[in-house]
Amino acid sequence: MTNTPHYDLECAGVTKNFGSFQAVKGVSFDIPSGSFFSILGPSGCGKTTLMRMIAGFDEPNSGDIKIKGKSVLGTPPNKRNVKMVFQHLALFPMMNVYENIAYGLRCTGMNNADIKKRVQDVLERIALPDVGEREIHQLSGGQKQRIAIARCMVLDPDVLLLDEPLGALDLKLREAMKIELKLLQHQFNTTFIYITHDQSEALVMSDNVAIMNQGEFEQIGTPQELYHQPKTAFVAGFVGDSNRWSGTVKSSDGTGGKVETSQGLPMSFSAAGHYTVAEGSKVDIFVRPEFIHTVRASESGTGGIDGDNQMDGVVDSLLFNGANSRVLVRSGNGELIESDVTLTGHNDIKPGEEVRLIWSSKQAMCFAHEERA
Ligand code: ATP
Repeated sequence: MTNTPHYDLECAGVTKNFGSFQAVKGVSFDIPSGSFFSILGPSGCGKTTLMRMIAGFDEPNSGDIKIKGKSVLGTPPNKRNVKMVFQHLALFPMMNVYENIAYGLRCTGMNNADIKKRVQDVLERIALPDVGEREIHQLSGGQKQRIAIARCMVLDPDVLLLDEPLGALDLKLREAMKIELKLLQHQFNTTFIYITHDQSEALVMSDNVAIMNQGEFEQIGTPQELYHQPKTAFVAGFVGDSNRWSGTVKSSDGTGGKVETSQGLPMSFSAAGHYTVAEGSKVDIFVRPEFIHTVRASESGTGGIDGDNQMDGVVDSLLFNGANSRVLVRSGNGELIESDVTLTGHNDIKPGEEVRLIWSSKQAMCFAHEERA
């Protein structure tokens, strides 16, 4: 009986040093077959270094990398069944689309009839069946992206690595390509590993995302898990928008407690089962804007909201965003708090108005304090 590997890529304790500097620090993760996996982190956190080790351009100082269940340590890039799409795409400008895609197949010694069949098949799968004769400069930015992917996919890689391929595109095309890339990954059913510092790209496209910080993975999870159940202050701050306060725990019963912020404000939080805090410890509290409700200061009550946290302030500005608006409220001590309001009932709040911000301690996520990067 054959033992089909469940994972296309397995990394165990992968470490890379440049002199005394450790760029990747013992990273371990497995990527299930046929999934879209992103590595998301700020500039300089080690994403490209990790990717280069997977591709074989660099070797780790320690740890193991397996592709389809077999270690590839010591295997040169051209002998690993891994292909890579770069930000600059690296299409050959002197060749037409057909020749760009056929190039890798020609290098394998395949006969012309089979090459033709394979190239046509891949052009159809990227929904550009008729562009084979076009020159590269005759393609739109989005078409070039698809051809760069087709050129890799025609070689049927086990894993496709994508190093910020949307970085050079304008905003509108980038938005469209996010959806397109996800559809292409489904179409080919091949594992895509996508590295980016742009959270909106990673969250939209990925089945799973690893959040990388200073050479380490802080958390791996679905986009929903990372957004709703971040495990560290870094993840809470990096994924999605949030209001953040630092403070000291004044009382805690294991499931929640009270914090005094560095500005001297009392604040309640719920540990929500993923983090327990001791009295006296330094913490960071995060509250997403959509969980902060804004009511006029003159209104009594909390509008039916379990509002054990309240703060008064003055509307600084309103950012219209279609179905809802973001209200920026200046608190008494000068902080700017972000709150999302839906249009119904609140759309007439104006800058300069006195308001009360209300949120439940259940929506206040509490983590061990981290200095901001
Ligand atoms: P970006 O998003 O800006 O591309 P990144 O997350 O991909 O960043 P890397 O390029 O992997 O980060 O770099 C990680 C760290 O390792 C950085 O501090 C970088 O300066 C350092 N580094 C990378 N390559 C080398 C090298 N060849 N020699 C020395 N230091 C290096």
